[in-house]
Amino acid sequence: MTTDSSHASPLAPEWLALPEDLNALQSPMWAAGVEKNDAGEVAIDGISVKELKEQFGTPLFVMSESDFRSRARAFKDAFDAAFGDICGGVDVYYAGKSFLCTAVASWVAEEGLRLDTCSGGELAVAARAGIEGRNLGLHGNNKSDAEINRALDMHVGRIVVDSLDELERVAKIASSRGETAKVMLRLTPGVHAHTHEFIATAHEDQKFGLSMAEDSTEEAGLSAAEEAVAAATSYSSIELLGLHCHIGSQIFEPDGFAVAGEKLLRFLSAMQSKYSIVLPELDLGGGYGIAYTPVDTPRPPAEIAQAMAAVVRSTCAELGIAAPRISIEPGRAIVGSTTFTLYEVGTLKTVRVDAPGGDAEQENVTYPRRYVSVDGGMSDNARPVLYDADYSAILASRSSTAAPQLSRVVGKHCESGDIVVRDVYLPADVAAGDLLAVPGTGAYCWALSSNYNYLARPGVVAVRDGAARLIVRGETEEDLLNRDMGVANV
Ligand SMILES: *Cc1c(COP(=O)(O)O)cnc(C)c1O
Repeated sequence: MTTDSSHASPLAPEWLALPEDLNALQSPMWAAGVEKNDAGEVAIDGISVKELKEQFGTPLFVMSESDFRSRARAFKDAFDAAFGDICGGVDVYYAGKSFLCTAVASWVAEEGLRLDTCSGGELAVAARAGIEGRNLGLHGNNKSDAEINRALDMHVGRIVVDSLDELERVAKIASSRGETAKVMLRLTPGVHAHTHEFIATAHEDQKFGLSMAEDSTEEAGLSAAEEAVAAATSYSSIELLGLHCHIGSQIFEPDGFAVAGEKLLRFLSAMQSKYSIVLPELDLGGGYGIAYTPVDTPRPPAEIAQAMAAVVRSTCAELGIAAPRISIEPGRAIVGSTTFTLYEVGTLKTVRVDAPGGDAEQENVTYPRRYVSVDGGMSDNARPVLYDADYSAILASRSSTAAPQLSRVVGKHCESGDIVVRDVYLPADVAAGDLLAVPGTGAYCWALSSNYNYLARPGVVAVRDGAARLIVRGETEEDLLNRDMGVANV
């Protein structure tokens, strides 16, 4: 169906175009293998959303295992190719915080990637999945002694140390165990990137990392970063592997990575000369963007890899140093687009809204906005509330020839900010019992899910070769009541 521009709503944000075909799945928001079947239903690997709902209920996270594996491999292959002649390849650490369970950890390992964790709980998942310690990293700005001990028990390949305090603590714990901890130092290069822009500042005002600004310690002229390098080289229980930075999230343009990479390489080179050490590794973090809406245009991994490799190659040549082994930590860009959330529509209502912009001539003109309530919400996707994140949605259980109507998909929580998709055109005949699918929910949705209003957190289904299986089961009412200690029996 081709839609008519007269249905475009003045209430829609500027970026939201009227889709040419409301029934079409707009790439690149969807996982490979997601299609409309002959009945007009959304299907993944041939399994329709109606079958998924019947078997697993809604809300439900539906993940393509093959798409996850191919995105993981695509990062590894693209970065290995771009950096092959520079440092023999790249170690890709999947950022487990974006979405982690034992099945996903095992796919990561099978595809030749490593795993980044940032808590004892994430290490526990890695252990249960049988990931070898040397393929693990441990992050965090406030690791507990128990977490540091656990990392050492598991012989993790790297602990990314976030502060001078922590460096001392890791050194002490390792020393008391008669061991050496492999450590990287997380630096804040003053480069902050998001989607299309980056800003560069000398000073950092955030909880993570060691500042590279020269006046960042009381001893003028010495940065916190340098102080940490000096301290690390003085502890016999610390093996300093190298330096780390992470400059933001949902980044499309590679320039921010290039600026941060160059800054870290210059610092690495200076430290190597000054302290007569070799820092064999450099981690440039994650943050690669994905498409949440039709206007997002993420770059293919090869393009980012080549841009980053060019800077590492030229900077190392200029400095006359051997390039360190590079590593990266993508989370969202691997898992984000592999998954959609399936919801059932319940209540609907239409409100009239004043013309935007306070146009006096249009004083009495109002426009309709349709609220479409679904059976989940901020408990399975907190990103719209937390970050004003935009998403998209499609009528998934059938096709429709109805006119497009500007809609707002909302959840069922007792919170007016409980929005799933702020603005989307849906067919005007969407009704209770229809299924909606929201793409791009693989990263930071299940991971951030909560039991607000005592909603059970949804399960995650993985689809591969035409078969669907639960990799995390949904919670039951019993789960919800399990930790409630009951009424005191006095
Ligand atoms: C969150 C995080 C990542 C992953 O970020 P994405 O945007 O999911 O790629 C990588 N490294 C560190 C240190 C992080 O905190």
